[in-house]
Amino acid sequence: MTRLYSSAQNSAKQSLPICEMYHMDFKSLNLCQPLLDALAEIGYVTPTPIQEQAIPYLIEGRDMLGCAQTGTGKTAAFALPILDAMAEDPWAGPRCIRTLMLCPTRELASQINDNIEQYARHLDIRSMVMFGGVSQRPQEKILRRGVDILVATPGRLLDLISQGYVDLSHVQFLVFDEADRMLDMGFIRDIRKILAHVPENRQSLLFSATMPKSIVELSRDMLYDPVSISITPDSATVEAIEQSLMFVMKGDKRGLLTHIIEEEKPEKVLVFSRTKHGCNRIVKQLGQDGIEALAIHGNKSQGAREKALGRFRNGTLQVLVATDVASRGIDVSDISHVINLDLPNEPEVYVHRIGRTGRAGQGGIAIAFCDENEGEYLRSIEKIIRQEIPVDEDQPFHSEKARSRKGEKAPKKQQQNHGRGRRQPRKGKSNDNRSKGRSNDRSKSGRNSGQSGGGRRRQQRDHRSRY
Ligand code: AMP
Repeated sequence: MTRLYSSAQNSAKQSLPICEMYHMDFKSLNLCQPLLDALAEIGYVTPTPIQEQAIPYLIEGRDMLGCAQTGTGKTAAFALPILDAMAEDPWAGPRCIRTLMLCPTRELASQINDNIEQYARHLDIRSMVMFGGVSQRPQEKILRRGVDILVATPGRLLDLISQGYVDLSHVQFLVFDEADRMLDMGFIRDIRKILAHVPENRQSLLFSATMPKSIVELSRDMLYDPVSISITPDSATVEAIEQSLMFVMKGDKRGLLTHIIEEEKPEKVLVFSRTKHGCNRIVKQLGQDGIEALAIHGNKSQGAREKALGRFRNGTLQVLVATDVASRGIDVSDISHVINLDLPNEPEVYVHRIGRTGRAGQGGIAIAFCDENEGEYLRSIEKIIRQEIPVDEDQPFHSEKARSRKGEKAPKKQQQNHGRGRRQPRKGKSNDNRSKGRSNDRSKSGRNSGQSGGGRRRQQRDHRSRY
């Protein structure tokens, strides 16, 4: 797996100047020796800012609301303290699921699980990844053998719960990763159903790249007195990317895309489209123009996604077209160009998209198309990145008409819900009836009090709201 923070500290400093402020090492974060050994072998030397901020609180057993994106080192930030707690407090009975990590896509689930396997290489902790679109048999088999950590997407997990293959009644640690994407994908009902199977007495972490109201509401329901941390995209990273803006009429976007690919001959270009249908259309149109491209989005089979990603990674595919959702978790380090064929209606998504290029100290180019209907989105983007994106008029489809509409409102809100059904209104909270006793008592406190990892959890869980 390519690392954003490479073990060579020089390149880490190039890509993330903030690393120069690092003064900690993992030892000072009080992690157990088998984890420290694994980190040294993998080549992690200094914690990233999110790790530095999050790990001490998580070791104390606090719930956490984290605003952070993939690429910040967030996986280790949540996985290491959980592994540490599990290692410090081994489970006495047969292996059971003590940690549940939920995330929106198969790619991200696999990536998290890969990371956990690396970190836990010297621990007697087994993890597994579970997602749909593939046969459930192998997953059943692994579950039967017993796992300690389950990394899952919500749909398949619910299926396997309802078939009786998954028991979540011993879960002590619950992580929601990329929660905003899960809500965008319409998973909220599934999430609430899953929550009903998880004990209330647990440590919960919710990470999200953006913090819309719906996430804040969900966090109020599922977190107890959380510590909030926020790792905003490093502005230096954004600055390192060469951004440009092209005003173009909607009907000319296809021609402009082909023009750029033919003229600039980008090595590896990731094209963003808002919808799955849009992705397919672009692939087809590029094909007609003699340019091979593949799409990844939620309707593609696991095999098709892996094939496309594999080819993109090894350089035999020049153009990958993706929706925002599918692009999450793509860990491809040398993307030379990101092209925003459509502007996202959430400005943070733009920052996330362009952050796909310019990784690991390499320069990257991000081009945004803005048509006659997208002026409002452009204004919001420029507001959050606090700069005007330089306009490139030197292209054959430049449109003054599209530019003149920059000040106008978008005609209608463009859909980003990917259609797993309507969102549920939030249920009222009720505070009673929660399960208090657990066979593994987590109601004592503190690593430093000499008690075991499970005993680090707090006593005040009774105040927790229900789902
Ligand atoms: P994430 O945001 O968790 O997807 O991590 C982004 C990349 O950074 C992954 O490839 C990780 O393996 C890598 N990484 C995370 N933490 C560190 C660290 N402290 N030192 C070096 N690399 C890291």
